[in-house]
Parts: sequence; C-alpha cells; structure tokens
Amino acid sequence: MAINTAPPRLEIRNLVCRFGGRTVVDDVSLTVQAGQVTCLLGPSGCGKSTTLRMIAGVEMQDSGEIYVDGKLVCDTVFRVPPERREIGLMFQDFALFPHLSVADNVAFGLKGAKEQKRERVEELLRKVDLIRHIDGFPHQLSGGEQQRVALARALAPRPRIMLMDEPFSGLDNRLRDGIRDETLAILKEEDAAVLLVTHEPEEAMRMADEIALMRRGKIVQQGAPYNVYTRPVDKAAVAFFSDVN
Ligand code: ADP
Ligand code: MG
Repeated sequence: MAINTAPPRLEIRNLVCRFGGRTVVDDVSLTVQAGQVTCLLGPSGCGKSTTLRMIAGVEMQDSGEIYVDGKLVCDTVFRVPPERREIGLMFQDFALFPHLSVADNVAFGLKGAKEQKRERVEELLRKVDLIRHIDGFPHQLSGGEQQRVALARALAPRPRIMLMDEPFSGLDNRLRDGIRDETLAILKEEDAAVLLVTHEPEEAMRMADEIALMRRGKIVQQGAPYNVYTRPVDKAAVAFFSDVN
C-alpha cells in the first residue's frame, strides 16, 4: 500500500497573537491537506480572522510558525511577504473593483501573456457560470453573481491555499446553500487547500472535511464534522452546535 508522506499543504504550529497584552490567538496548530476544506469554526471574537490574517501575512504572529508544503513561510524572524505566499483570499466584503470589467477583475492577479490570461479568465467564468457577463461590470450583477466573480478572481492565479473569511454571510439566505455547494465543487476541482472561517455550525457541517472548533483564542476540538457534531467536547460545544438542523 502506498503511504502518502507528502507534507500538508498548509501547517500552522503554535501560533500566538497578542494585542496590547491580551492573547487573542493562543497556541493554535492545524493542518490543511490539498483538495480539502478545513473549517475554523467559532463564535464572533474568538480569533478566527486574526488567525487567517497571520497566515495571509498581513498580521505578524508573536510566536509560532507557518509552513506551506513543508517549507517555512513565516516565523518570528523569517517572513515570506504576503504577495509571494500563493494564497487566494476571499472575505465577506469581497469588494470587486467597480471600475473594472468582470474579465479584468478576474485577470487582476494574473501574470503572463494576454492570450493565456484571457484563456484562464474564460475557463473560470465558465466554471462559475458567468461567461455571459464577461464584459459586464460589478454593479450590473446580483450579490450572488458578484460573489462568484470574487471566487473566480481569487482562484485565477491557482493559489496553493485559499483563505475564506465568512465569504457567504453577506448573501441572501435563499441563495446561500446553493452558492455554498457550487463554491465547494469549484474549490475541489481547483485542488486548493481551503481554510474556511465561519461562525455558523451549519456551514461547517455542510462544507468541511475537518472542523477545528475555536473558543477564546484556542482550538478546543478538532476532527471530522460528524465526530465533532456527535461527540461535542463539552457543554459549551453542545450549545454552540444546537442550532444546526
Ligand atoms: P473573529 O474573527 O473570530 O470574530 P477576530 O480575530 O477578528 O475574531 O478578533 C479576536 C479578538 O481580537 C477580538 O476581541 C478583537 O476585538 C481583537 N482584535 C482583532 N484585531 C485587533 C487589532 N488589530 N487590535 C486590537 N484588537 C484586535
Ligand atoms: Mg472574523
């Protein structure tokens, strides 16, 4: 039997972040494999976004290390700059560039020959089912459509890792499940390692291969969604999951 000895696509070890003496990320370790979605799940204010910002390289950790494919990307002395981390980002406020066409939004982070860029843009807009809007502008699109353009834009440079911070919370309830499923299918096709931040257990249950449950800066439980849901670590975890249908 072949044993997969490849290092995880993303690994963070013992990350700590303090603001003014307050520890908001407290010794967080986790791994994300290529083609997998890990959900960082926890209530508002528990330190999820700060964790993501350290991985993206826009916040500096006080201690701990970040590795991509087993290579050190950042510790407290060495630091690969954000733009060289091959990370795609998606946030709730996905902020497309209003003055750029849909095509130019998606092409924004792409380098190389014009024809190649165009090909990649068309490939992605087909995937997100928006090829008919290729020459349109963001204000002509619905919220859900804009969200899909943002996904295409983030995936265009073939990031090794996708960091998604509550990317669906701005969307209409009726659309959300459909868009979650479509997004998941596209992420799987593109083979990125996905770290998805959410405060909604339902979203984690729907999308994650692995859930890391976070509370007050710490990961309190980690595992497959079914296990985390059926064997909650304590009463607070039971209460937190109780609103999943
Ligand atoms: P979450 O994304 O889980 O809602 P955050 O990571 O945004 O949580 O925030 C965790 C805690 O750190 C919060 O109490 C927040 O107020 C605090 N915090 C976040 N960023 C800063 C900052 N730049 N300066 C001071 N405190 C911050
Ligand atoms: Mg947040």
